[in-house]
Amino acid sequence: MMTQEQELLPLLKKYFGYDSFKPNQLSIIEDALQQKDVLAIMPTGGGKSLCYQLTALALEGTAIVISPLIALMKDQVDVLKANGIAAEYYNSSQSVETQQEILGKLERGELKLFYVAPESLGFFNNILGNLKISLFAVDEAHCISSWGHDFRPAYTQLGGLKRRFSNIPFMALTATADKTTQDDIVDQLSIPNANRHLASFNRPNLYLDVKPAQDRIKHILEFLEERLESGIIYCLSRKSTEAIAEKLRNAGFKAKAYHAGMSSEERSLVQEEFITDKVPIIAATIAFGMGIDKSNVRWVIHYNLPKNIEGYYQEIGRGGRDGLPAHALLFYSFADVAQLRRFITQSENSDVEYAKLERMQQFAEALSCRRIALLNYFGEQVTQGCGNCDICTAPPAYFDATVLAQKVCSG
Ligand code: ADP
Ligand code: MG
Repeated sequence: MMTQEQELLPLLKKYFGYDSFKPNQLSIIEDALQQKDVLAIMPTGGGKSLCYQLTALALEGTAIVISPLIALMKDQVDVLKANGIAAEYYNSSQSVETQQEILGKLERGELKLFYVAPESLGFFNNILGNLKISLFAVDEAHCISSWGHDFRPAYTQLGGLKRRFSNIPFMALTATADKTTQDDIVDQLSIPNANRHLASFNRPNLYLDVKPAQDRIKHILEFLEERLESGIIYCLSRKSTEAIAEKLRNAGFKAKAYHAGMSSEERSLVQEEFITDKVPIIAATIAFGMGIDKSNVRWVIHYNLPKNIEGYYQEIGRGGRDGLPAHALLFYSFADVAQLRRFITQSENSDVEYAKLERMQQFAEALSCRRIALLNYFGEQVTQGCGNCDICTAPPAYFDATVLAQKVCSG
């Protein structure tokens, strides 16, 4: 008898041209083929789309894909069509003729994949009942949770789907969801028994380090003495990016600031100089780094406390993409916590943001392995100390907690 993998590999080759699966893809697809609901957490670029696309090809009927952005739907459908797969998307920007044509194909059962935004789903209420549906895929599933970082109210309409189509497997996919958000996603989609596939969030080559914020600049100068390679210093305010870059220049380092208040020409120039190693040190707000593909960033410093662990994780993740050792240094002070709390007061989703800040603070104050804390936050069960963080390399028994507390207070 053929294994499922032996059946799927020819489809993978034929339609996508690939010879093997990326991590977790096969087990996710296998679950869906066995009619199980799935929650897949995979990093960006991990190949989430292929999980539902290949499942759709292996099953009879039409897969309904819920996706938040027209641009994303269009890109995927174009690629699928180019590969000879019957796929369409539907949205309000299409002409009436196009919409009619697509609805016709859908109703005649000619489509393997049908993409629709959550906002348009209501329109298909009656039609869905008459179709042979193979799978419901909910891409960017964190959008359903107000605990997530990108809540979209229309996603909450998906809640009733599973109750109505209880025999059809659901596949929810996202790149970032902490444990609370994961629980919320399965709860809201009514898929409590979904098999969870968590790609590991571990980046073992990053050394995780936390220091009290007192004398930050002095520490940074000492830190840089031994390091000529490039790195990023993340700051809370535009003003401090400028001030820090200037202090570093005065001390003889090549450093520049980057923040959203600069003109786009200035920003592109700084990015370019960083990528080509002309300016190895950038003091930046969190605006810096998105879309910057530089593999040899050797250190990331947080001059201020990030407002949540998702942000911290994303920012330190810009270090060591080449897999070689990189250092992530976080400066912690109560003053930053107080400042972040003031920002949160003005926000709509303040309860969630307070809770997330508190977790960030707990991470900074922890006296046990940093990596265990970080991975547990994302729902990974790890108990063994990592040996590559400040706590593991200098166990707390050797430092005096009261001294630390005093330093943190005055930071
Ligand atoms: P995600 O949605 O998880 O960020 P995508 O679905 O956009 O990722 O896929 C990222 C890239 O990986 C795409 O270019 C896709 O074609 C490619 N990819 C997916 N599966 C495989 C595979 N098994 N082998 C090689 N490349 C793959
Ligand atoms: Mg995707």
